[in-house]
Amino acid sequence: MMTRSENAFVYGTTRFGEEKKEAKTYGRGRRCSVSGCGALLSMYNPSDVCSLHETMPMERKRPGPPAVDAGECRCHIMTLIESGMTIPQISKTAMVAETVIRRIANGAQENASLMTIARVMRLSVPSGALR
Ligand SMILES: [Zn+2]
Repeated sequence: MMTRSENAFVYGTTRFGEEKKEAKTYGRGRRCSVSGCGALLSMYNPSDVCSLHETMPMERKRPGPPAVDAGECRCHIMTLIESGMTIPQISKTAMVAETVIRRIANGAQENASLMTIARVMRLSVPSGALR
């Protein structure tokens, strides 16, 4: 346990006893992979993002699902209303805010979240109510 055979030399030839440092490098000219950043990365930076973005989570979570066209949803609401349901009833049954139902119904809101649309479309037209 006393012998160490690898402590005397580092790889390669050292001139004048200068100790060659084998710092690990990761290549020059790499740029931050975060789109829109493009900061030049240090060759000693093992990451593929700059120090600014390294501390940030990569996924930028936007709250809520994307809004989609509510045209079909609006038609369904109109059908429900025509079949005798009131907006408060639709709101309560679909578990969607009454104001949202109202806005979609009167065309004030052209888009709605997928969740909202799915909830409204799930409602069935009351049977026997069709003219
Ligand atoms: Zn960056």
